[in-house]
Amino acid sequence: MPIKTEAVEKYEVVIGLEIHVELLTKSKMFCGCRVSFGAEPNTNVCPVCLGMPGSLPVVNKRAVEYTIKAGLALNSKIALHNQFHRKNYFYPDMPKDYQISQYDKPLCIGGYLDVNVSGDTRRIGITRVHLEEDTGKMIHQSETGRIAGADYSLVDFNRAGTPLMEIVSEPDIRTPEEARAFMQKLRRLIVSIGVSDCNMEEGSMRCDANISLRPRGEATFGVKSEIKNMNSFRALQRALEYEIERQKNLILAGEKVLQETRHWNAAKNTTTSMRSKEEAHDYRYFPDPDLVPMDLDEAWVNNIRAGLPELPAARKERFIRDFGLSTYDADFMASSTAMGDFFEASVKLLAEPKTVGNWMMGELSAHLNAAATDIEQSPVSPKQLTDLIKLINEGRISGKMAKEVFEEMFVGGKDPQALIEEKGLAQISDESAIAGFVDKAIEANPMVVAEYKAGKKQAIGFLVGQIMKASRGQANPKLVNEILQKKLQ
Ligand code: ADP
Ligand code: MG
Ligand code: ZN
Repeated sequence: MPIKTEAVEKYEVVIGLEIHVELLTKSKMFCGCRVSFGAEPNTNVCPVCLGMPGSLPVVNKRAVEYTIKAGLALNSKIALHNQFHRKNYFYPDMPKDYQISQYDKPLCIGGYLDVNVSGDTRRIGITRVHLEEDTGKMIHQSETGRIAGADYSLVDFNRAGTPLMEIVSEPDIRTPEEARAFMQKLRRLIVSIGVSDCNMEEGSMRCDANISLRPRGEATFGVKSEIKNMNSFRALQRALEYEIERQKNLILAGEKVLQETRHWNAAKNTTTSMRSKEEAHDYRYFPDPDLVPMDLDEAWVNNIRAGLPELPAARKERFIRDFGLSTYDADFMASSTAMGDFFEASVKLLAEPKTVGNWMMGELSAHLNAAATDIEQSPVSPKQLTDLIKLINEGRISGKMAKEVFEEMFVGGKDPQALIEEKGLAQISDESAIAGFVDKAIEANPMVVAEYKAGKKQAIGFLVGQIMKASRGQANPKLVNEILQKKLQ
């Protein structure tokens, strides 16, 4: 343990992410083939995406539009003049032996995304957002599905040429948690502008994490490793945690961290070396002679900007301004389109933003998390939630009962009113009924009453407890207190 603490204080973690997002266009990046997931292998292909000699690429305008949208949402500068390059390397999933990508003239430059981690807001810089094409998919015939030990491999080119947007972050991230928060926020942002479904299991959002350590206070970065194959937020965080330990142990043992690409093995909870990392010059980037540089019309870009939906950051500000929410609450409510829509629909039905927010962050989120589901699939609607809150406000049920009712609403999807009637749960707010309970409690506990009258005021708590018990928790506690005090005077 002492070694660990010392190391944590002595070294700073530096993380930068490269995120690939498949765009939701109907057709591919440079040809008219349909983009599909799960189709019969090699059915959505043509000479262009199969890389046949003599075929010519044509840029998909929609993909450019989507990437500009993402760039604007990330506060990037849109480069009206930009260009496609060839990135040369060999792999069987890419028959051209080069990937069309962007190099020194990307579509979007700079930008940032603010993330909240344990109460702090951190601004993570965006280096660039560019456009490229996806490769085909290899299916290795081995028990693990990995290439090691495979007898042979099959290639499916359906994915080849799918528009792929790459978002590169600055090395501004400092903890695995922050990396996860960044990814989650980015995912919600991209989904909210409608350019990708960012489905991590299906691979439409993929992330490579670059990580290094350096002595605290040191200006230059340490040697980094790049981790691949993390297909969930949890995997990203765990892989980075593992990698910090591995690099730290190397450094403490006086060894060197090698610049390499590593593979995350979720089953074994480790990263393993894949290859030593190539440098940019290994790829022999050069401008694709089949594609002239793009010169975009500024009016078109402005049009795209004007057509953007309200972004989460703006929605958050509006929630603070219009509903008086705290920064924390507003951030939560604006965290996804669906969350914000649920909140706004609820507030329309009941103008109590703070109470609605508390129920959403409390009971509703807890139940959604436990059921591993999203707010889109919430079995409780804004109408049902606000009806429940109204029943509390009217004194018909207590806050405690409301939580029980909520539980049942969540499981069975029933309305709160119906559940209360069905279960005979309604809070007793009838004064004569409560007076009856009070009289019985006073009669049954003469000693306690005497103590109270002799000045031991806290004795009243015992009587309240007895009354609540006798009413099976249904008596309105406020009325119980009022009536009891009156009768004891
Ligand atoms: P490469 O040429 O190896 O791909 P880049 O300079 O393009 O490296 O950076 C790729 C990603 O790695 C970016 O997200 C960047 O922020 C991050 N990065 C760069 N250097 C480091 C480092 N020393 N430690 C951690 N991350 C880094
Ligand atoms: Mg890179
Ligand atoms: Zn094609």
